[in-house]
Amino acid sequence: MEYTEIETEVLIIGAGGAGIRTAIELDKHDTDCLMLGKREHGDAHTVKAAGGINASLGSLDPEDRWDIHAADTLEEGHFINQPEAVEMLCKNVPERVLELQDWGCDFNLTDDGKINQRYFGAQSYRRTCFVGDHTGDAIEQTLVDTAKERDIDYRENVFITKLLGSEAKIAGAFGYDMETGEFLLFKARAVVLAAGGYSHVYKRSSSRPDENHGDGPALAFDIGVPLRDMEMVQFHPTGMVKPEEKAGSLATEAIRGEGGKLYNSDGERFMEKYSPKQMELDARDVVARANYQEIMEGRGTEDGGVLLDISHKDEEFIKERLPSMYEKFKEYNNVDITEEPMEVAPTSHYSMGGVVVDFETGQTPVEGLFAVGEVTSGLHGGNRLGGNSLAEIVTFGAITGKHVASYVEDAPREIVDEDTVEDHIQDLQTLLERDEGHDPDDVMHEIQEIMWEHAGIVRTEQRLQEGLEKLEDVESKVKTMRVDSDITSRAFEHAMDVQFMLPVAKTIMKGALERDESRAAHYRDDHQDEREEWEKNILFKKTDDGMEMWTEDVPPMPRTIKRAVEEGHELDYHHLE
Ligand SMILES: Cc1cc2nc3c(=O)[nH]c(=O)nc-3n(C[C@H](O)[C@H](O)[C@H](O)COP(=O)(O)OP(=O)(O)OC[C@H]3O[C@@H](n4cnc5c(N)ncnc54)[C@H](O)[C@@H]3O)c2cc1C
Repeated sequence: MEYTEIETEVLIIGAGGAGIRTAIELDKHDTDCLMLGKREHGDAHTVKAAGGINASLGSLDPEDRWDIHAADTLEEGHFINQPEAVEMLCKNVPERVLELQDWGCDFNLTDDGKINQRYFGAQSYRRTCFVGDHTGDAIEQTLVDTAKERDIDYRENVFITKLLGSEAKIAGAFGYDMETGEFLLFKARAVVLAAGGYSHVYKRSSSRPDENHGDGPALAFDIGVPLRDMEMVQFHPTGMVKPEEKAGSLATEAIRGEGGKLYNSDGERFMEKYSPKQMELDARDVVARANYQEIMEGRGTEDGGVLLDISHKDEEFIKERLPSMYEKFKEYNNVDITEEPMEVAPTSHYSMGGVVVDFETGQTPVEGLFAVGEVTSGLHGGNRLGGNSLAEIVTFGAITGKHVASYVEDAPREIVDEDTVEDHIQDLQTLLERDEGHDPDDVMHEIQEIMWEHAGIVRTEQRLQEGLEKLEDVESKVKTMRVDSDITSRAFEHAMDVQFMLPVAKTIMKGALERDESRAAHYRDDHQDEREEWEKNILFKKTDDGMEMWTEDVPPMPRTIKRAVEEGHELDYHHLE
C-alpha cells in the first residue's frame, strides 16, 4: 500500500491560534516543527472569534486583578475547573496580549493609548480586549504573519485520520492530502494536538460548516487518552435565526457587552425576571436558558427567536465597535442594527470538555502527545467565560511550546507499527469501495439532530436514554457508509467527520445522563439543583469493548483565588445604562 512518509521533530495538528502560538514558541527555542491544517494558512475556526480576549490589564477598571479574573472563571465554570490551569491562564494572559500587540495585532485603544477593554458576560470588570468585533481574525492573522516571518513550515489541505503509536507513547499520525488524495504518514518525536472542539456535533452551531466535529478529542480517545467533562457544551444565547443556512451563526456577546438588550415578542425586557442585577450580562448558560424558555413558552418571534436590540446606541459607536455584526445582519437579514433589533436564538458554541492534559506542560497521559486549545478540557469547567478561549490558546500555546521543545531534546523516536498503518489504509479503502450504504451527510445530520433534540439546552433522563439508543442505532449506519466518490471529495471528508462525531456524541450523552444535577451549561430538567457531591469531573476512556467511565474530585483552589471568590465581585449591568 502506497503512502508518503514525512519525518519531523514535532508535528502540530491544527493551525488555529493554539497550534500557531505553540509553533512560534518551538521556533523561539530552535525546535523544528511541521504544522498542518485542513485549510489554507490562516483559515481556521479561530477567525470566527469576534468579541475579544480577556486579560486583567485594568485599562479602564484599575481595580481589576488576575485573581478576580480567576474567581470569575471558576464561578462561571461552577467550580469544576482545574484551578491550577485557571491560575496559569489569568496570571500569564496579560503578557500574551501585550506580546500580540507588539507583533502587530491592532487592538482598539483608549484615548490615552491603552488597550481598550469592554464588558463581557459574567465578568466583574471591563476586561475583554478587542479589535472591533473581529478579534479572532486579527489574532490569527498576527500569528500567521509571525510564523511566516520565522519560516515555520505549514502544510495545508491535510486531514489527519489516526494517531499512531500506543497508549504508552506517540509515534506519529496518518492522514491524506485533501487535494491530491495522497496518503501521508507523519513520523515525529512529539505530536501536538491543536485540532479544536466539538460544538458542531449539534444541529445549530456557531461553527463553520465543515469544522468542529470533534476530530481532536476523537483522535486522542482512539489512542487511549481519557476525555473529561464531555457533557459540558456551551450554548450561546444569541445565534442568528435566519436564513436557514445561517441559523446558529453567532451574534457576538459584544453586542450585549456594549449595552444590547433582550426583548420577547410582548416587548418585555425579560432578563429583569431571570437576572435583575446582571441582566443581559449574566453567565451564558443563564441567558441562553432564559431565551430558550421565552421561546418555548410562546413569547418568541414567529421564526422562533427573541429580539436583541442595540439601536439605542449611536450609529457611529455601533459601526465602530460592531462592524461585522452591522454588515452580517444587513447582508443576511436585511436588518440595520443601528435602527432595528436582531432576531436571535440559542446555538451550540463551545466545548468545555475534551482531552485530559497536564496544563503545566501540555502533556497528555500518552507520552509525547501534547494538546492545546479548545481540544483540551479542564480550564473552563462547566462553562466558559466569553473571551477566555482566545486567552487560553495564546497562553497555553506558549507554555506547551516551551515544554515540547525541552521534551524533544532527548526523546527517542517511537517505531511506527506498519500493520496498524496497513489496517487503517484498508479501512479507508473499504469505505471508498463500498457500493451500497448510507450517505455520510445523512448520517451526520441524523447525529446532529439527535444531539440537539436529546442532549440540548434542557436535558432529562428519559430524553438522554432515548438519545443514547438512537446513537446506538446510528452506529451501524456509520459502519456502512458509502462515499460514492473519490478520496478528495466532500463526501469522503464528511464520512471522516462522522466517524469522529460518533464517540464524541456518545460521551456527551453518557456524561449528561450520569450527572444527575444541573450545573453550569448542563441543565437537567429532572434534577434542577446543583449538588455539592457533583463537584467532580466525569472521565471516559476507550476500552476493548467500548468505554469506561469514572469520576474524579476537583483539586482544591489556591488560597489567593479562594479569597477573591469570597470577596464576591460581581458586575452590576445597570452601570452600563
Ligand atoms: C463564532 C465564534 C465566536 C467566538 N468568539 C470568541 C471570542 O470573542 N473570544 C474568545 O475567547 N473565544 C471565542 N470563540 C472561541 C474561539 O474562537 C475558539 O475556541 C478558538 O479559536 C479555538 O482555537 P484552536 O486553535 O483551539 O482551534 P481552531 O481554531 O478550531 O483550529 C483547529 C485547527 O485544527 C485543524 N484540524 C481540525 N481537525 C483536523 C484534522 N482531523 N486533521 C488536520 N487538521 C485538523 C483545523 O484545520 C484548524 O487548523 C468563538 C468561537 C466561535 C465559533
